[in-house]
Amino acid sequence: MISVAELWTLLDSLASPLPCERIPLSSADRRVLRETILAPEDQPPFDRSAIDGYLVHADQPAGLVTLTGTITPGSPAPASAPALGTALRILTGSALPSSDAALIMQEDTAPTSSNQLQLLQPPSTRHIRRRASQARAGDALLSSGQSLRAGALALLASVGATTPLVTRRPRVAHLITGGELVPPETLPAQGQIRDSNSTLIAALLCDSNSDLIWQQRVGDSRPAASDALAAALATSPDILLISGGASVGDHDHTAALLAAQGFTIHCAKVASRPGKPFIAASRGDCLAFGLPGNPLSHFVCFHLFVKRLLARLAGAAPVALVHAKLAPNSALRPDPRETWWPCLWADEGTTRRVLPLPWRDSSDLTVLGAATGLLRVPATTEAGTEVEVLPCQCP
Ligand code: AMP
Ligand code: MG
Repeated sequence: MISVAELWTLLDSLASPLPCERIPLSSADRRVLRETILAPEDQPPFDRSAIDGYLVHADQPAGLVTLTGTITPGSPAPASAPALGTALRILTGSALPSSDAALIMQEDTAPTSSNQLQLLQPPSTRHIRRRASQARAGDALLSSGQSLRAGALALLASVGATTPLVTRRPRVAHLITGGELVPPETLPAQGQIRDSNSTLIAALLCDSNSDLIWQQRVGDSRPAASDALAAALATSPDILLISGGASVGDHDHTAALLAAQGFTIHCAKVASRPGKPFIAASRGDCLAFGLPGNPLSHFVCFHLFVKRLLARLAGAAPVALVHAKLAPNSALRPDPRETWWPCLWADEGTTRRVLPLPWRDSSDLTVLGAATGLLRVPATTEAGTEVEVLPCQCP
């Protein structure tokens, strides 16, 4: 049985980033960028007005000036600054002449007639957004490995990088085993239970920016499971997930079926509570995981291991553990295995607090309605007041 940290190292050694593709910005949310984006020109590319007001000569003193025209955003900059004694009406974002320009805010002027106004104070250059004040042509704006979200997408749009190079989404096949399972919309007969892991995995994969390309339930007969596994592999997944059957019971065929398909089994048990029977295997570029069927184990194994692998395949860093203060009087049962305890975490001012939630055992789904993280309780020892949390959801 290997430790969680050893399994992380193993997974990191098995995974390398998937190939890249160029895609439109409209599809790029949450994709991982695989190129450095350089500013193609100075940002802003020309001096611009930051205000609605008037453009005058930099040497213009306060006093009366004659209005000679208007400059609007989107028009080329005037060739030169207005002559002394004259002013141009200007709107925010308008291009400015490259020398001798100064601005005065509308609030600092008083109209005297339709073509004259009083400057109540001298103009200044304070409200000029200077060319290259944000970035120079050739400066790096975004780095490879960064996950693209709304702000970064807007930055790409602003420099015309409309087909960024990103990692292609991982293709995941999911086989669910268990003769006792019925679809969630079916009323279970005595002894049967609803399959909740299909829904869990589909939602977690969606959240992890992965494509669930195949998902099927199968009973516990080995030939049926073997056929279903072959069908899953025929879809050429990057990752194959098998729910249930990861342990050593009479119906636990996952390890044997993967071996029969030519997979190398790297690990069959990990010292995590919940989550102990966990199979990691590989065949060529395809990585397979056998997850214990209990829903809480499923949740923990996905966040600890599958999500880490998905991040590595995307070329991104895995979700980092955060440090938090344990709520007082938290009753945590230590165990010979490291425990990943469902919890709620939140930032209160400058302190991050974590509240362990009650759970009975690895089949206990009730806690998953509220959990936003997994609190790491070290093996055997009592947890201190400073603990680590693996975020599963932002609070
Ligand atoms: P297994 O890992 O197949 O031995 O399953 C362990 C426990 O998890 C059993 O009580 C199963 O009934 C339950 N279980 C397995 N698969 C699922 C599933 N897809 N949804 C809900 N519970 C499951
Ligand atoms: Mg089973």
